[in-house]
Amino acid sequence: MTRPIRATIRPAALRDNLELARRLVPAARQMAVIKANAYGHGLLRVAQALRAADGFAVLDLAAAVCLRNAGFDQPVLLLEGFFDAAELPVIAHERLSVVIHCEEQLQMVLASPAVERVPVFLKLNTGMNRLGFDSALLPALLQRLGRARQVGEVTLMTHFADADDDRGVDWQLQRFDAAARGLDLPVSLANSATLLRHPGAVRGWARVGLMLYGASPLPDRGAVQLGLRPAMTLESRLIAVRELACGERVGYGGTYTAPRAMRMGVVACGYADGYPRHTPSGAPVLVAGRRVGLIGRVSMDMLCVDLSEVPEAGAGTPVVLWGDGLPVEEVAQAAGTVAYQLLCALAPRVPVHEAD
Ligand SMILES: *Cc1c(COP(=O)(O)O)cnc(C)c1O
Repeated sequence: MTRPIRATIRPAALRDNLELARRLVPAARQMAVIKANAYGHGLLRVAQALRAADGFAVLDLAAAVCLRNAGFDQPVLLLEGFFDAAELPVIAHERLSVVIHCEEQLQMVLASPAVERVPVFLKLNTGMNRLGFDSALLPALLQRLGRARQVGEVTLMTHFADADDDRGVDWQLQRFDAAARGLDLPVSLANSATLLRHPGAVRGWARVGLMLYGASPLPDRGAVQLGLRPAMTLESRLIAVRELACGERVGYGGTYTAPRAMRMGVVACGYADGYPRHTPSGAPVLVAGRRVGLIGRVSMDMLCVDLSEVPEAGAGTPVVLWGDGLPVEEVAQAAGTVAYQLLCALAPRVPVHEAD
C-alpha cells in the first residue's frame, strides 16, 4: 500500500460556493481569485470547476497564459500587474487585464509598443498602505491613461484592510467614493470577507477568493454557519497505535507528557505535507469521524494524536486533518494562523484526487 495521505478536491463544492457568492450580491460580477495555485487546490482544476465565473484573478503571467491556453476566454486579471516591461506584449496579445498600482508600472505601460489596448485596473490606496496610488492623484492619472494608445477600459480598484474585523470597510469606502465621485468608471472593491460581512459595500467586480474554497475569512462565523462547503479535505490514516504509561513523553523534544496511562496514534501527515509544524498539542484532528487532540510536536512525516476517546481506533483508521467534518479555519486558529496559509501550503507530494 502507498502512504495513505491524500487531498480530495470537490468541484461541486467550488461551484456551490460560487453560487452562494452570487446569491449574496446578485448585481456583482464574480472574479474568482485563483492565485497561489488556486489556494492550493490546483489552478486548472479550479478554473474548470468555476468556468461559470465572470472572470479570474491570478498573480503571475504564467498562470494567466495557462488559463488562456486551456481555452478560458473571460477577463483574467493580474493582481499585481506586471513586474517587467517585457511582459507587456504578452499581456496585450493574451488580452489580459492588469492592475497598475505604481508610477513605475504606469511609465512602462505608456512607453510600451501599442499592440492591443490593455484593460487596466487602477489601484488606489485608501488606507491599506500596501499597493496603490494616493487618490489625490486620480484626475492626473486618468488624464495620462486616457491619452495612451496602449490602455483600454479603466476600472478603479481598492482593497479593504478590515473587512473581517470591527473597523469594517466604511472608512475606506468613503475615501474611495470621494475619489471616484462623478467618474463613470467600473469599480472593484470586495474580497470574500466584504461579500460575507458587508454585502452592501460590494460594487462592480467582486474579487472572491477564500470563500470559494469553502473556508471562512471571518473570526466570528465559521464555514458551516455561512453555508460554505469545504472544497479540500486533507485525509490520511493511523499507521501505528501505542500505549503510553503515565509520565511518558511524546515526539521530538518530548513536549507532551502523558497525564495518565493512555493510547495514542501516529498519523501519516507531517509538515512536509503542509501541516504546520508549530501547531500545538490540543489542536483538533478527526479520527474515525471523532474529534481528538494533537499531541507532541508535528514532525516531517508524522503527527501524533490522543486516542483516549476512540478506543476502537487502530492502524488503518481514517483521519481527517481538515475539510469534511473539520473546518480548516478551526485547525488554522489552533495553529495560530489563517485558513489561507494551510490551504496554500498543501505540499506537492500529497496526491490529489477529485470527488463529488
Ligand atoms: C487575494 C486577493 C483577493 C481575494 O481575497 P479573499 O480574502 O481570499 O477573498 C482579493 N483582492 C486582492 C487584491 C487579493 O490579492
